[in-house]
Amino acid sequence: MALHKADEVGSEPLDVYASELSAAPLPRHRMPERESPARVAYALIHDELGLDGDAAQNLATFCTTWADDETRRLMVESLDKNMIDKDEYPQTAEIESRCVRILANLWHAPESDHTIGCSTTGSSEAAMLGGLAMKWRWRQRRAAAGEDTTRPNLVCGPVQVCWEKFARYFDVELRQVPLLPGATGLRPEQLRDHVDENTIGVVAILGVTFTCDYEPVAALASELDAIQRDTGLDVPVHVDAASGGFVAPFCQAELEWDFRLPRVVSINASGHKYGLAPLGVGWVIWRDREHLPEELVFRVNYLGGDLPTFALNFSRPGGEVIAQYYTFLRLGREGYRRVQRTCLDTARGLADSIAAMGPFSLLYDGRGALPAVSYTLADPSVDFTLYDLSDRLRTRGWQVPSYPLPADRDHTVAQRVIIRRGISADKIELLTSDMRRALTDLHNGARGPGPNVGFHH
Ligand SMILES: *Cc1c(COP(=O)(O)O)cnc(C)c1O
Repeated sequence: MALHKADEVGSEPLDVYASELSAAPLPRHRMPERESPARVAYALIHDELGLDGDAAQNLATFCTTWADDETRRLMVESLDKNMIDKDEYPQTAEIESRCVRILANLWHAPESDHTIGCSTTGSSEAAMLGGLAMKWRWRQRRAAAGEDTTRPNLVCGPVQVCWEKFARYFDVELRQVPLLPGATGLRPEQLRDHVDENTIGVVAILGVTFTCDYEPVAALASELDAIQRDTGLDVPVHVDAASGGFVAPFCQAELEWDFRLPRVVSINASGHKYGLAPLGVGWVIWRDREHLPEELVFRVNYLGGDLPTFALNFSRPGGEVIAQYYTFLRLGREGYRRVQRTCLDTARGLADSIAAMGPFSLLYDGRGALPAVSYTLADPSVDFTLYDLSDRLRTRGWQVPSYPLPADRDHTVAQRVIIRRGISADKIELLTSDMRRALTDLHNGARGPGPNVGFHH
């Protein structure tokens, strides 16, 4: 038997904490020589992971931190499903296609049953694919006209880091337009100075990561219409709807940000954010087949037929896609509306509480865009920073991030609280009382994670 003798008393394993593996720090540099009982290895790693922050108190992330039992079951049952093996797992492939059509329909693609799109590992990969398609189409157009194709650029506001990666990895100049004073994202009047004949597209963000507000996609598109009338430049829009793609269709249905705008050629969203699927799934959908250049598509064999694929990865788990489909069936439009609306209500309540605390100025008040609140420290008389406040809140387990706004001329520091499924009104009530207490301590000169914001047993 491979089991190490010291861990066995007859057939009965020793107590986990009397095992050989537990007698010393876990290996950090080299694989251990001997096997250990699964139960022991599991328990020790499980314990170590206890040092991670509690995901249920992580107010920094947009990502799913709650899953029902059925989602967990489907995830375990699909542990062996490889998304790329369309031949071996045709039903998983079929479920992915259903999700693509459902999303194309949700985002008003002109012919949603025949559009093209795919699942990805998240919005980052989806953004790369959307960006690449725009780059290819720009290059084809320029090359056909005998024009220079060596200096592509992408115009955007305060984008998430995935667009900086796209630009660097795929040799595109990122023209990140600085925020106008008081603005929460890119504004239409800023476009004219930045787009030119080398612009592959404009990224509009439905749910700016740093402020949680939506950029005015329709106004940006209509300014690009005006630019085309005046200059002949035809610049497409890709909407990074990482978060908003699963909020706006349910809670701001009248807002036109998607394929209803003819200039929008592609949209990405994170299934694992407000899509409510477990971590590891994103989506990108093109307006129609014409907007995904054929050269970027690889053909894989699918039940004797052929299925177009476009992805950066090859092997990839299928469980998240299956869980996404489950969530679509489980909640339906009505369920999504209820979940997101509850979050929006909680966010509005939090915004009002934060406004009433005094020293803050709200950047985004939880109204009209994502269920979240962002704010800055506006009172010039206080001698603490938002970073100090983050530290104090951390002593109670709350993870509330402070960060400088990108592309901001004044280097404003902001703080942000994300409300998502699992962050209840009660939890936010607990947070706000801890915030008030932390502010009192900070006003009294406390700094860092001090003892006077202790636990109350
Ligand atoms: C989260 C986010 C991304 C990256 O998405 P992942 O799913 O984490 O890869 C891109 N853009 C925006 C606006 C985001 O909020």
